Amino acid sequence: MSISIYNTMSRAKEPLEPLEPGHVKLYVCGITPYDYCHVGHARSALVFDMVARYLRHRGYQVSFVRNFTDVDDKIIARSHKLGVEPAALAQRFIAEFCTDMEALGVQRPDVEPRATEHIPEMIALIRELMDKGLAYAAGGDVFYRVARFRDYGRLSGRTLDDMMAGARVEVNAVKENPMDFALWKGAKAGEPSWDSPWGPGRPGWHIECSAMSRKYLGNDFDIHGGGKDLVFPHHENEIAQSCGASGMGFARLWMHHGFVTIREEKMSKSLGNFLTIRDVLAKYPPEVLRLFIFSAHYRSPIDFNETALHDAGTGLARLYAAVERIEALPQTGTDDTDGCITEAGTAQLAGFKTRFYEAMDNDFNSALALGHFFETAKALNQVLDRLPEHPATSDLQRLHKAAGALRELGGILGLLRQPHRERNEGRTEDKLAALGLSEADILGLIAERAAARKARNWAASDAIRDKLLARGIALKDGPKGTSWDFVQS
Ligand SMILES: [Zn+2]
Repeated sequence: MSISIYNTMSRAKEPLEPLEPGHVKLYVCGITPYDYCHVGHARSALVFDMVARYLRHRGYQVSFVRNFTDVDDKIIARSHKLGVEPAALAQRFIAEFCTDMEALGVQRPDVEPRATEHIPEMIALIRELMDKGLAYAAGGDVFYRVARFRDYGRLSGRTLDDMMAGARVEVNAVKENPMDFALWKGAKAGEPSWDSPWGPGRPGWHIECSAMSRKYLGNDFDIHGGGKDLVFPHHENEIAQSCGASGMGFARLWMHHGFVTIREEKMSKSLGNFLTIRDVLAKYPPEVLRLFIFSAHYRSPIDFNETALHDAGTGLARLYAAVERIEALPQTGTDDTDGCITEAGTAQLAGFKTRFYEAMDNDFNSALALGHFFETAKALNQVLDRLPEHPATSDLQRLHKAAGALRELGGILGLLRQPHRERNEGRTEDKLAALGLSEADILGLIAERAAARKARNWAASDAIRDKLLARGIALKDGPKGTSWDFVQS
């Protein structure tokens, strides 16, 4: 069975057939480090972390490259505002990004090239484009001559005429065509610059990805990824540069993930409606954020809100509860009893892996894959509820096998990676968030229960205790009042 991936270029799902059998070469556009990253950046990192992990799990060797755009208008503008060097600002936020990625459990790509460390490669590429008549120098800048590249607009599905009709075209007397884009920008006072055959300056944004993907993956490679906002102009321009220079194909498959929205609006720095990764991780454990992100297919938009995060926390707690109930059981039991798991139940549990692979093979449908996790956890809980005091070895083996599968495949999504013991030693607020509770909620209920007890309303008092117990919180009455703790399984 093969993995199929939706290709933005063909607008259809296509089988993944690596150019070099068994070896997938993946390039993803990374961040521009000028500030803390928000949840939209987390989605990009998590989606391609999942892709790389899944491909590796399926036996592929993966060469994963993700760049840092460490010279850019936004970096320069911010560094001027803060009165620091652009390179120092970029360096600082690359480090902050790496801290966030570690907190999220995102594996590092194999290569994380920085634009500023590849200036010679970019200059060489621009020279090739000029030699082929695809670029021209004008007024200290160098531009790409889009009219000379026949396929310009193929990825975004637009013609040059459409683009010009729809775009707010800047007036620039030196450009031959308003859609021509900068490959090299002549130096301006107060901006970082490098020497080039066209005088001092800095690269345009798009050229770095063409130069760095070629250096680390070759002219032709398998998958190019990024957010939907990069289709035009960034990826369209990368194609023009790379195919224009090499005369070859560039990326085979184009994967674009959807946006994270807040109240249906795209989360972005410029709109000011963003939450940083740190804001979210201060409130929710990383696995809750992962489960939330993977609960939507990567191409769909996903709306960030407290209810959705709360639901993700409850869902994660449910998965852990099922796995941990099983892990607390012995490996062997009695041999003289028939198991209580029916044939259908056995088949259902055994089919979990197959269903997970089917979902993921079909364009990384993590939403469906998670559905299979919840179904399996539910089936396991039903078995566990019926399990006799002395269970049969055959049942125990089936249960342990299923729990092992949940742990193993959960690892591909970065879920269920906390061993039981460690999780109980985790931060109280993280553990509460995973249960969808806060300490204030619990203290409020304890106060309510104390009032009920004072009024000798035992039914109300018991109802509160049971409600908390059902959420995984046990109350203990002592001479100093009522205290609470997590239910120990
Ligand atoms: Zn790029």
